[in-house]
Amino acid sequence: MTYQYSLSARPESRESWLDDAACRGMDIKLFFPDEGEDVDPQAKAVCEKCPVIEDCLRWALKHEAYGYQGGMSAYQRGRERAKRRIALFSPNMYIGPIMR
Ligand code: SF4
Repeated sequence: MTYQYSLSARPESRESWLDDAACRGMDIKLFFPDEGEDVDPQAKAVCEKCPVIEDCLRWALKHEAYGYQGGMSAYQRGRERAKRRIALFSPNMYIGPIMR
């Protein structure tokens, strides 16, 4: 799967907490495995230590349908969305906060 959009391509949507993202500048493929592939353990380890994981998760719950972000897989976020009664808004418009 090829992602063509990014937050950096949409400066008006840039979130200030992205400056502190532990994944900043990393290879996005770590966080967006191909269909059927497991998330790279390195991505999980990076998220675990990320100082903005709560901000990222809040953002990803609202905007990100794919990938491992905010310390959760897309499946886990789907369950969390249902639990928190959060609707996914504009899925597929962004690839996530890690494309800096
Ligand atoms: S995906 Fe989110 S929680 Fe994980 S390292 Fe990046 S900004 Fe932090």
